[in-house]
Amino acid sequence: MARKQHFDTAAIHAGQEFDPRTGAVIPPVYLTSTFVQKSIGELRGGYEYTRGGNPTRDSLQTLIAALEGGKHGLSFASGLAAEDTLLRAALSPGDHIVMGNDVYGGTHRLIERVHGPWGIRNTVVDMGDLRAVEKAIIPGETKLLWLETPSNPMMKISDIAELAEIGHRAGLIVVVDNTFASPALQRPLVHGADVVVHSTTKYLGGHSDVLGGALVINDDELAEKAKFLQFAAGPVSAPLDAWLTVRGIKTLSVRMERHCSNALAIARHLDGHPAIDTVYYPGLPGHPGHALAAQQMSGFGGMLSLAFAGGAKAARKFAESTRLFQLAESLGGVESLMNYPAEMTHASVRGTELEVPDNIVRLSVGIEDVADLIADLDRALPKK
Ligand SMILES: *Cc1c(COP(=O)(O)O)cnc(C)c1O
Repeated sequence: MARKQHFDTAAIHAGQEFDPRTGAVIPPVYLTSTFVQKSIGELRGGYEYTRGGNPTRDSLQTLIAALEGGKHGLSFASGLAAEDTLLRAALSPGDHIVMGNDVYGGTHRLIERVHGPWGIRNTVVDMGDLRAVEKAIIPGETKLLWLETPSNPMMKISDIAELAEIGHRAGLIVVVDNTFASPALQRPLVHGADVVVHSTTKYLGGHSDVLGGALVINDDELAEKAKFLQFAAGPVSAPLDAWLTVRGIKTLSVRMERHCSNALAIARHLDGHPAIDTVYYPGLPGHPGHALAAQQMSGFGGMLSLAFAGGAKAARKFAESTRLFQLAESLGGVESLMNYPAEMTHASVRGTELEVPDNIVRLSVGIEDVADLIADLDRALPKK
């Protein structure tokens, strides 16, 4: 047996054998909906119809499972399609979910407004308050614990190992949305989580050119249920989307290094600026989750948020004044993006416990030259 590959090697090679027919180093994109059978029911390599299986999707699924250190990888048309599949695979009407009060707004919307009417109840808690998490668990009814760390947009850090222990004591499935960190910086399964969820649209794809989602599951039975739904309900990733995601993942490690160093430089530069009350970045020693992040992650990530002293007016003006940082939703691409959560990414959670203060601006720091990024931010900051 070959020895287990290190992360950076697996990111390039896991599931990526060259094409045996031609020797093409990069396996072709299998842009096909169906596969010719040798005789009735006799398949070539197990492939029958692309909703059920496609070699390009398989290569992405193998790759993501390897990067998260998990057994089964499944890829989907979007992060929310992955989440929806997991919820339906893991839960039945009457079941209850405990989730963080800082989960992705779309996750909250999916659980509350799509699964709620089908009989799934939820309680929202602060994942930093372990007593509150324990109290929110209803014995026999709660089936799933859902957390996200670092969180969006306040960059709160939750203790995956502690929460997994609490969840497992109550027999729950512990799910971590690992979109913000990516497996290059954090591997939740190693810390005891049962399932990892990704919006591969963000850092894994990395180039803001493709939508996608993934699940990595260790439990065979749960993985089988999710696989069945992938086939029976059809929320799969298309071959070209899967191929673009694989292509993005090859550079994940080097991109994350630059995302991290740029974000840290910007956080340090803005920390203490008179126009800014707080810089939310786990890499700053003053961040409440700094020590935990240093232990749980191998880098602090490329996302940071700013609270403006001048309130909503100052935050909005800043968000609309940068040039390199472009005003757009989403994150994790090579280019820097600026977001005003209260009215953009988090508009769907206004009036809920997940509401984001209106003086917050979120930056997705790209991999451009950091001096240019800092100059862009400085130009947009209020002059004293
Ligand atoms: C974007 C995002 C999602 C949803 O993924 P889509 O690909 O947009 O469906 C889920 N979780 C987090 C943390 C995200 O940032």
